Amino acid sequence: MPIYKYKCQNCDEIITMLHGMDEIKKDCTLCDTPEALIKMIGKPFINKTETSNEPGVGDITKKFIEDNKEVLQQQKDEFKSKTYDKS
Ligand SMILES: [Zn+2]
Repeated sequence: MPIYKYKCQNCDEIITMLHGMDEIKKDCTLCDTPEALIKMIGKPFINKTETSNEPGVGDITKKFIEDNKEVLQQQKDEFKSKTYDKS
């Protein structure tokens, strides 16, 4: 079965689902909102051959990844400190 990606208009989450080609999912399983999902086209996130023609795009993407890393690290630290407090 192919994998499809959907974006929820309500909670903004990306949902990956496995289902038949003639099937379309519309109801968000995360926030329980019917008809909230938009099917995403399965393309690679960045076309590397094109980034050289557009200077700056790679940097923005890098920064985005770095920012995400920071947020993830912060969440990890928060989680660690929380579990530490409990014990
Ligand atoms: Zn949702």
